[in-house]
Amino acid sequence: MKKGKLIIVSGFSGVGKGTVMEYLKNNYDNYEFSVSVTTRQPRENEINGVHYHFITNDKFEKMVNEDALLEYAGYVDHYYGTPRQFVEDNINQGKDVILEIETQGALQVKEKKPEAVMVYILPPSAKELKKRLVGRNTESIEVINDRLAKAAEETDNLDKYDYFVVNDKVETCAKNIDGIRNDDNPDLADK
Ligand code: 5GP
Repeated sequence: MKKGKLIIVSGFSGVGKGTVMEYLKNNYDNYEFSVSVTTRQPRENEINGVHYHFITNDKFEKMVNEDALLEYAGYVDHYYGTPRQFVEDNINQGKDVILEIETQGALQVKEKKPEAVMVYILPPSAKELKKRLVGRNTESIEVINDRLAKAAEETDNLDKYDYFVVNDKVETCAKNIDGIRNDDNPDLADK
C-alpha cells in the first residue's frame, strides 16, 4: 500500500496555527492530526486528548526513555512531543498525517523521515502577530515576550522549510496547505 504523506506545520506563536488546523479538520477530508503530549497546563478552552495529551514531567520523561516519541522539544518552560505510534500507524495505512510542531522538533522529524514536507505559516506582518498574541488573552505579558523571542530564534531555521504560507485569511491559508499535499512538485518527489 502507498504510504501517506507526513506534513509538518510550524509557525510563530500567535500566528493562528491552531485556527488553521481546526479549519482543515472541519473542511478537508483524509487528514489525520497528531495529538502531541505536553507538560504545560491546559488553556481554558483546551480539552485533554483533543488539543493535547496533558501529562506530567515524569510521564513525559518515561515516554522519552521508552522511545515513544518521534520527536520532542522544550519550548518556553515546557516540553512537547509527538507520539510515534500514531504517526507510523496512519502513514502505513496510507493516510496523510499533519504534525503541528515547533522548529526543533520539525528538524528531528525531517532527519528521521526526509520525505516529510515542511510548511511554515507566517503572519501578514510583525504588528499583526503581536496583536494576535496579545488579543487571544491566554498568556501573561512575560510569556508573550518569551514567545516573541522564541519566534525570532525560529527564523534561524526558516531556510529548512519547503513552503511558506501566509495566514492572512484562515480559509486561504488552509487551502494553500491542502494544495501542498497535492503538489507533485518534482523537487519534493525526489526527497
Ligand atoms: P502552545 O503552547 O502554543 O500550544 O505550543 C507552543 C509551541 O509548541 C508551538 O510552536 C507548537 O507548534 C509547538 N508544539 C506543539 N506540539 C508539539 C510537539 O509535539 N512537538 C514539538 N516539538 N513542538 C510542539
